[in-house]
Amino acid sequence: MEKVVTRIPPSPTGHLHIGTARTALYNFLFARKHKGDFIMRSEDTDRARSTLAFEEEIREGLTWLSLTTDSFSRQSERAAIYRSYLEKIINEDKAYISKEESKSNPGESIEVVRLRNPNIPLTFADEVRGDITFDTTELGDFVIARSLDDALYHFAVVVDDFEMGVTHVIRGEDHISNTPRQILIQEAIGAPRPYYAHLPLILALDRSKMSKRHGAVALYQYRDTGFFPQAILNYLALLGWNPGTPQEIFSLPELIEAFDVAKIQKAGAVFDIEKLKWFNKEWFKIVPQSDIEPTLRAALKKTFDISTPDERVVKNLIHLIRDRSTVLSDITKDVEEGEYDFAFKAPVLDPALIKWKKDETAKDALPRLHEVITRLTGATDSDNPEAIKSILWDYAEKVGKGEVLWPLRVSLTGKEKSPDPFTVIATLGIPEALRRIQNACDTIEAS
Ligand code: GLU
Repeated sequence: MEKVVTRIPPSPTGHLHIGTARTALYNFLFARKHKGDFIMRSEDTDRARSTLAFEEEIREGLTWLSLTTDSFSRQSERAAIYRSYLEKIINEDKAYISKEESKSNPGESIEVVRLRNPNIPLTFADEVRGDITFDTTELGDFVIARSLDDALYHFAVVVDDFEMGVTHVIRGEDHISNTPRQILIQEAIGAPRPYYAHLPLILALDRSKMSKRHGAVALYQYRDTGFFPQAILNYLALLGWNPGTPQEIFSLPELIEAFDVAKIQKAGAVFDIEKLKWFNKEWFKIVPQSDIEPTLRAALKKTFDISTPDERVVKNLIHLIRDRSTVLSDITKDVEEGEYDFAFKAPVLDPALIKWKKDETAKDALPRLHEVITRLTGATDSDNPEAIKSILWDYAEKVGKGEVLWPLRVSLTGKEKSPDPFTVIATLGIPEALRRIQNACDTIEAS
């Protein structure tokens, strides 16, 4: 079998759109699965709207997603190649130079290149939609170049795909209507027809085409909010493709293994931010610590002015964060809102808050706190909340969970809301926990 080559040919006229990222992913998966190449081509022929900054952003975005490409080219640097193909097909009388009046500039005479349309009915096989038939006569002898040095989009795409050995064209279904023109050009230049797979559109929740008014459409917006590339890839893969099994969490290597063009769906795929958040929350539990730690350290530095926090605390906060966060920006928000204050600041106690519902005064909690002190004093320290729980749980079950755990947690954190006391003790270590509980007892006695 010939070597598979797929491509992502974005126009650098805007930010990397989430739909382009999905198209890139499917092309990447298909190429990697078949040990082929995945190439990137910057379709920058619209000189007025294309910018190097957008091109750079798109390349960086794909790199951030780990969608590595095997080669890169720019259409603006390939005019001589398009010219040689134009000259060839003009010589073969498959295209001709047509002198006509400019539409944009009436009165001006221009020489465009038109393809001699063979006027044949044309059918192409689409891997997603089956056979698609077009009557090409209505296209007429369409323009393929504004001049020999200024090839139009369709011509450049076809020459490039041919020259670059592209075997599979996987792209959005908005390109279906371009395909007949491109096939006629392929036939004129003698290029083989690639396989086509046109992907369903990405729709907003209201099933209209997803656009800015529905929220973020640019990849960088998701990156800046703190979505993991792993979660975005995972979600985008399933947005229009069905693995045929109940598995939902896929790493990139697993996607390469499982991906199958035959399982791409025809119907539009609805983009649901809540579902993407769900994937991100799942990936929070899986990503390496190094994907979380820099955000935590930056937030700690900013909020508490701590540049070298206790490593035990950092490690345990990361456990906690993995469990409760949805996006990376939650870390900064939670640090700023005081969720992790307990780890860095001894609490300022309000005895009234220590009082559990059924207690008359905070003093009622004293015997229970003393029992906790006794149990912790003899116990082995651990940074595993489960191990701490096992020291105290049977006692809490015996005298009442609220009765024990509420005053304990408030003694440790001083707050109405905070992580559970086992997690807090595991994070702080038993010696610091004992100091805080003893301190709470002293405050209650003095109140
Ligand atoms: N440059 C086109 C775009 O940005 C893609 C063309 C293609 O995939 O054939 O949508």
